[in-house]
Amino acid sequence: MKPIFVTQPFLPPLDEFTELLKQIWDNKILTNSGPFHKEFEQALADFLGVKYISLFSNGTLALITALQTLKITGEVITTPFSFVATTHALWWNGIKPVFVDVEPDFCNLDAEKIEAAITPQTTAIMPVHVYGNPCQVDKIQKIADAYGLKVIYDACHAFGVQINDNSVLNFGDLSVLSFHATKVFNTIEGGAIICHDEKTKTRIDFLKNFGYDGELRVVAPGINAKMNEVQAAFGLLQLKYVEQAIAKRKIICELYKESLADVKGLSCQNEIPGVKHNYPYFPVFIDEKNFGISRDELNDLLKSHQLFGRRYFYPLISQFPTYKGLASSNPANLPVAELKTKQVFCLPIYPDLELSDVSRICELIKSAGK
Ligand SMILES: *Cc1c(COP(=O)(O)O)cnc(C)c1O
Repeated sequence: MKPIFVTQPFLPPLDEFTELLKQIWDNKILTNSGPFHKEFEQALADFLGVKYISLFSNGTLALITALQTLKITGEVITTPFSFVATTHALWWNGIKPVFVDVEPDFCNLDAEKIEAAITPQTTAIMPVHVYGNPCQVDKIQKIADAYGLKVIYDACHAFGVQINDNSVLNFGDLSVLSFHATKVFNTIEGGAIICHDEKTKTRIDFLKNFGYDGELRVVAPGINAKMNEVQAAFGLLQLKYVEQAIAKRKIICELYKESLADVKGLSCQNEIPGVKHNYPYFPVFIDEKNFGISRDELNDLLKSHQLFGRRYFYPLISQFPTYKGLASSNPANLPVAELKTKQVFCLPIYPDLELSDVSRICELIKSAGK
């Protein structure tokens, strides 16, 4: 049996890509906001239903630059249940992360617990739309408004997600996307910041290009985080196929849910009414006592059959050496996150995954439980 991994990148037809490469070979513009960059930026904004997008070389640099854009300092409230880059972006800005627990339904930052963590040093909240499920955006905005805080969403999982026909990226002050190979939409590596006014877009564009405003003026200590023309051309093509790719993910997700519905001690996440989902991951939560074996034992069993899921997100960011010493990293402060991180297991999901393989995975899981 060939191995099956948790994900496999989606690629556009090669011949269509070589056509675009020929144009790059002809015009010899490789980077610095060339024609593909401009076209892709506009096409993405239209597709996602947002006003302004600034393309980046990856999501992590976009997160770091988002914090620079709003001059965030001091302390930022964030979640320990995410990919480590969320917190690293704060660290690279000299900001102290303050971890707040997640809610049990979607493992997103628990809005009810934010207020208690606010101090005079708090300047912003950085929540994550984990697995593409929107955070409690209205509650979070209310708290931010009451305390004068900025909100920057790590929306790296949330490409194409909508709440009542409105892009999830339209909430908060800024949202950040990743177009890494493993994401629902990829430009091999890549990312973006979404903002809501032209002035902010201009500032972001300066910051990602060393702080240059025109030829001679440097207005800020910027970084180099520009997306190049090859990636932008690739992204333009990917955009043609992404709806199809998400539709295939949805079918896989539905088959998993149907097949695993009656498994004792295993739970899946529900869809949220009014939300258009994008199915980036398929997390299941294993309650060892009722399921029969632990999450790690299930992982080992699947591995022995060449089936490779992933324990996203385990360990919690708060347990990595850099962050472990923070007061807010104390497990007693994060009971829900501590429980979820031990239970979660992400099953393989990607557009080209065969439904027969999904069934095979489900049969194995069913035989593993009691
Ligand atoms: C992928 C990801 C990032 C980092 O994005 P890169 O493009 O890989 O730098 C940050 N946060 C979350 C939640 C992610 O999933």
